[in-house]
Amino acid sequence: MNALVATSRNFRQAARLLGLDAKLEKSLLIPFREIKVECTIPRDNGSLASFVGFRVQHDNARGPMKGGIRYHPEVDPDEVNALAQLMTWKTAVVDIPYGGAKGGIGCSPSDLTHSELERLTRVFTQKIHDLIGTHTDVPAPDMGTNAQTMAWILDEYSKFHGHSPAVVTGKPIDLGGSLGREAATGRGVVFATEALLAEHGKSIKGLNFVIQGFGNVGSWAAKLIHEKGGKVIATGDVSGAIRNPDGIDIHGLLKHIAEGGLLKDFKGGEGLQNPSELLVHECDVLIPCALGGVLHRENAADVKAKFIIEAANHPTDPEADEILSKKGVIILPDIYANAGGVTVSYFEWVQNIQGFMWDEEKVNLELQRYMQNAFKSIKNMCSSHACNLRMGAFTLGVSRVARATVLRGWEA
Ligand code: GLU
Repeated sequence: MNALVATSRNFRQAARLLGLDAKLEKSLLIPFREIKVECTIPRDNGSLASFVGFRVQHDNARGPMKGGIRYHPEVDPDEVNALAQLMTWKTAVVDIPYGGAKGGIGCSPSDLTHSELERLTRVFTQKIHDLIGTHTDVPAPDMGTNAQTMAWILDEYSKFHGHSPAVVTGKPIDLGGSLGREAATGRGVVFATEALLAEHGKSIKGLNFVIQGFGNVGSWAAKLIHEKGGKVIATGDVSGAIRNPDGIDIHGLLKHIAEGGLLKDFKGGEGLQNPSELLVHECDVLIPCALGGVLHRENAADVKAKFIIEAANHPTDPEADEILSKKGVIILPDIYANAGGVTVSYFEWVQNIQGFMWDEEKVNLELQRYMQNAFKSIKNMCSSHACNLRMGAFTLGVSRVARATVLRGWEA
């Protein structure tokens, strides 16, 4: 199902549970601004290449709009729109003073050289610099982008507006980035998992995990789960997938990848025919950490996990959601489970504005506190609206944004 249709469907269901006024419901769904720009750059070989870039600013009732910039061949306007909307509910779920936005460039970053990526990022920044800002819209890394991308945006933006470290988060530490930001989404996933498992009288230690995706989020989640005594029995990335029923040596795998090896060639596990087998692999906890829409009506019935932690954005189609909930699978939704990244982005922004750097222990402790508080608030919504965790998180996020909107006075 199209990502925007799926996200809007969840929003509407939450609006109904909350009894939102129809006009308010409509106004919350419509994005504030959608930007589309053409980014033309010279390739290293002298030819010209053109890419389409997007920034969708969904809502700013609770504060500056906030969200990542994705470089991926599948970036399209509907998907960026859906992801921007998810950011609005996500920042509200963890109760940080932001709205939601998302950006992206339709490109394959692995096919571009370092200097081509730099030129592309600078051209994109030139096109959107007057629409982003410390108190209007604050980009961050997402799939295919990283701290280096943020450094280029910061540098290009500063040429127009003067040095403005808080215009992006997820920056390199040397340019005002926060300690703990790199690990934050994965660490947040682990705090969220612990909160959910504790509800069911379980803990990470001794459970079997499958981690689909081994990029920034998946690799950090795997490392922290491994260190807490959880067994990562299968994982994979674009190169392929591996499994080991005794638990993969995650430190060994990280070393293998850091030395330039492909995940699929790691000797500490046997290869899986097809990485999509990960999603239906036997396990206690499945953590999708890659693209959206991976759980759909064709594979949902075959899922064997008891818990799904949505570290990716919108990995589960609404149709799969229904099938999985009938099977009794408990799903921890994306707008809570992966909110650790944007939460530490908020800490980074606060540190930049304060001009005072926190130590990593403080960052991690505050992150844990925000994740635990959000889980309690979601559970309260689940009780008061007799709904599952996804609707608990959506009603929590949507109600907070709705309250801010009404307080501001939203009649035109
Ligand atoms: N891209 C991340 C997300 O989807 C982080 C966004 C941010 O830090 O602003 O939540």
